Amino acid sequence: MKEEQSRKRRRGKNKKPQKTQPSLLPKHSTKLHKKTHQQKNPAHQSSSSSSSLKSSSFLDKMKARLAGGHFRMINEKLYTCTGKEALDYFKEDPELFDMYHTGYQEQMSHWPELPVNIIIKWLKEHSSSLIVADFGCGDARLAKNVKNKVFSIDLVSNDPSVISCDMANTPLRPSSVDVAVFCLSLMGTNYASYLKEACRVLKPSGWLLIAEVKSRFDPNNGGADPNMFSKAVCEMGFTSALKDFSNKMFVLLYFKKKENQSSHGREIEWPELKPCIYKRR
Ligand code: SAH
Repeated sequence: MKEEQSRKRRRGKNKKPQKTQPSLLPKHSTKLHKKTHQQKNPAHQSSSSSSSLKSSSFLDKMKARLAGGHFRMINEKLYTCTGKEALDYFKEDPELFDMYHTGYQEQMSHWPELPVNIIIKWLKEHSSSLIVADFGCGDARLAKNVKNKVFSIDLVSNDPSVISCDMANTPLRPSSVDVAVFCLSLMGTNYASYLKEACRVLKPSGWLLIAEVKSRFDPNNGGADPNMFSKAVCEMGFTSALKDFSNKMFVLLYFKKKENQSSHGREIEWPELKPCIYKRR
């Protein structure tokens, strides 16, 4: 029995990861390996094999923490600067964009429902001939999941189908799209200029679909008054079509552009939208 145990131990030792490349092991295999070893031989916890296994899972944890930290830093930056500053920031170091989106996908994996899927569903329920502009498209998930012609817009992208620009100034023609989508993308401090750009490119009677993080529209917690926001959008030349607060994580605010726009010349008062700061997990 003892011999069998020590043979197993020896075999376990042979399987141990190479110290030079510990982080290449999938996380689960490292953990599983370590547990089996400790269960069988608690006295060996401070042996070199155990410590190398420990350091590999430690490295994995540190990497995940660092990635999470980077994501939160970039996220905060995007919510506290203008679109132009954000464009310069990403242009200077395009790697930041991938870093941001890896962290963003991780955060989204904890949401029971994704707002982009609700918008995809909405589009599938309407005519596929509607031309769509997806402002702040991220990984262009929307374009990949509908038949419509979609102009996907974001700051930078590896995807050649994405128009990279600051969405306050797109190359789209005036009155050229039927649906303008902002899915969790009203990030800059100058967000009103994104909505004005959407208004410019939308055809009369076109749709403006906005999904935003719920806490940004919770006046009891420092968020904006949704009625004030809605009033500002309407003053730009829209009518409110839907206000849906039923989801725990996000709100849906849909508008329709008026057939005839009459500019009243008054300055529109936009509420401040507080940054959405993701918690450390
Ligand atoms: N709509 C996508 C991604 C949301 S993340 C989804 O629902 O999955 C928000 C996106 O908005 C990011 O990719 C960010 O780069 C983009 N964004 C923020 N400010 C922008 C700006 N000024 N111009 C273009 N894209 C912008």
